[in-house]
Amino acid sequence: MDTLGATVWTTGLSGSGKTTIARELASRLRARGAKVEILDGDVVRTNLSKGLGFSKEDRDTNIRRIGFVANLLSRNGVIAITAAISPYRAIRDEVRATTERFIEVFVDAPLHVCESRDVKGMYAKARAGEIKGFTGIDDPYEEPLHPEIVCYTATETITESADKIVTYLESHGHIPAAVAVS
Ligand code: ADP
Repeated sequence: MDTLGATVWTTGLSGSGKTTIARELASRLRARGAKVEILDGDVVRTNLSKGLGFSKEDRDTNIRRIGFVANLLSRNGVIAITAAISPYRAIRDEVRATTERFIEVFVDAPLHVCESRDVKGMYAKARAGEIKGFTGIDDPYEEPLHPEIVCYTATETITESADKIVTYLESHGHIPAAVAVS
């Protein structure tokens, strides 16, 4: 199947569900023959952005690098799915302006829900003061003003969240509509 290529840029608090949605979406798209890559913020920080910290400057550099790679992929027919907190609006908008077919997905869950999930035990550490500058605790998260898609992961299932993105990709011609089975 030929896909047009796109960047599906998830953004949201730690624990909001970016990685989970990215994996679910990737497996669905691959099952339909699409070329897909996931650029996960945590993984990128262990290679492409190794050595960068969490100051605003370093976070912006990390996001620019992810955006650069996502753009290379999306203009070559790959659906690049990114999963990084990407807390600052200005840098997301900068990447939007320089990336082919940029689709912003706001993975929206209230802080208390993300904190109760505490997937990586990071909120507990941030509350205890062991981690400084943690997004949502003592560093800002700037919500997207005009995201293409919002996934409310506190009230939707993972399937429902992924469905929204697949439907968007179909309706905008990034992937062919699924063939209905009668
Ligand atoms: P992030 O990548 O944003 O830090 P993760 O995907 O690692 O977040 O963790 C999200 C957690 O929330 C997972 O344990 C996942 O199972 C759970 N979850 C519950 N409902 C949803 C949903 N609708 N979408 C995504 N994750 C969900």
